[in-house]
Amino acid sequence: MSITRFLIVGTGFGGIEMAVALQKAGIDDFVMLEKGNDIGGVWRDNSYPGCSCDVPSHLYSFSFAPYKGREKRFPPQQDILAYLRQVATDFRLWPHIRLNTAVAQAAFQEAQKRWQVITASGEMYDAECVIFAVGQLHRPDFADIPGRQDFLGPKLHPAVWDHAVDLREKRIAIIGTGSSAAQMLPSLASVARSVTVYQRSPGWILPKPSSDFGLLSRLALRVPGTHYLYRKSLYYGADVLLSPVVRSRLLGRAAEAVGRYHLRRQVKDASLRLKLLPSYPIGSKRILFDSHFYPALTRSNVRLITESITQITATGIETANGERIAADIIVFTTGFKTSEFLAPISILGRDSRSLNEEWASGAEAFMGLAVHGYPNAFIIAGPNTFNPAGSNPAMKEVQVAYIMRCLRWKQDTGADAVEVRKGAMEGYREWLDGKMNRTIWPASVNSWYKHESGKITNPWPASARSFAKMMRIHPGDSFQVVGDLGKR
Ligand code: NAP
Repeated sequence: MSITRFLIVGTGFGGIEMAVALQKAGIDDFVMLEKGNDIGGVWRDNSYPGCSCDVPSHLYSFSFAPYKGREKRFPPQQDILAYLRQVATDFRLWPHIRLNTAVAQAAFQEAQKRWQVITASGEMYDAECVIFAVGQLHRPDFADIPGRQDFLGPKLHPAVWDHAVDLREKRIAIIGTGSSAAQMLPSLASVARSVTVYQRSPGWILPKPSSDFGLLSRLALRVPGTHYLYRKSLYYGADVLLSPVVRSRLLGRAAEAVGRYHLRRQVKDASLRLKLLPSYPIGSKRILFDSHFYPALTRSNVRLITESITQITATGIETANGERIAADIIVFTTGFKTSEFLAPISILGRDSRSLNEEWASGAEAFMGLAVHGYPNAFIIAGPNTFNPAGSNPAMKEVQVAYIMRCLRWKQDTGADAVEVRKGAMEGYREWLDGKMNRTIWPASVNSWYKHESGKITNPWPASARSFAKMMRIHPGDSFQVVGDLGKR
């Protein structure tokens, strides 16, 4: 049994932010458990051709290690992963990291007021606090399409990419037209014999600037302070202009007009355009930022299929009109299991309660980061904290800062364990429901923002600034001591 003060589960942006905050507070007694063979979370898992981030790195980086590239506005996946590794080195995190260590169960021990964590290989950890930072987009969903197992060729997923599979001169089928499909299509189409893209519903796509900075920007970024100003302008720009499109139909319509213009400019074929025009309000699903997907769809070796898939066969895909299209490789860009937060970890709190059971019809947590009945446990990137229109590392930094304040408050009170109050959770739920009802999501199409019950479990319904403002509350207003005060 290994004993530690703080146990962080996950080493993506959230886990690393948490560990750096502990280091900065002079706390060295922590362990980071990582199920993968490297750190980096989604930036380790998603290595498909063309993978990049559609949020500029000046915004998509830590405030304590801001991106200062002058060449690339949107660096490729390998650069983002290298950045995270560098941060881990700079902040001396590697000695704390245990790779290939998946957590199977975490159980709160009432008598000791500590967490006992068991890994998939049976190792045990005893920790004062557990911080889950496993993200929302880490469990691939291959989609339950009949016949999937029958297909004889390679079956790929953006997060499970087999680089040994030779794509050259192959007939590739891509199922799905989300961000991952959009990013990979140009690369795949440039080497494959043919690519058939199966679209169930088109996404709203807004133009994405070039990945490289132009000469003027490069020169401007030499001026002291411009990196900081650029980062701030991206933060406020996204928060003021993009975030409200899910709450204001006026802004939504303006964004849709930009999307339609982008489509008209890039696709000259009116019948193809019609297939690519969404019939639901922008923002209902995550908006795509892309300037290469539409042109790639117009290539002679690319075909867009909008007939629904009836089954996958040994050699290809069959659609509702009876057409059978042969494929050598199928890429399932069908998304992730996003609404089962923290699964497959079994989490047991006070009085033998099970978080997995409590969340069966949709996860919820106070400000996305704490649940009544689960003392000394925190979540980063928990329910309703995904910012669909800005920087998620920035959202996580706010959560980490609040968790740090909770930990300081716990220490100041001398408590062995603290948990969020039931009333605070209920009050927050009421506020969240009211806010959610003013967005387009309750009446919108299904997406990975929603649990199958219809509950909206993933996105944050307001601005990033309001999230930061709400997180300024004192922990003592919402948390309570569990049991007797400790002797410290
Ligand atoms: P996704 O956005 O969930 O898209 C899944 C796609 O698969 C959708 O087009 C969906 O159609 C389709 N699909 C799902 N099940 C299907 C089925 N049974 N039959 C036919 N089509 C099916 O997945 P993703 O593209 O991997 O992206 C996931 C998230 O990762 C994104 O929303 C984004 O937040 C993140 N991401 C970010 C970046 C970035 O640059 N920041 C890049 C890639 C991914 P429907 O729309 O009809 O459901």
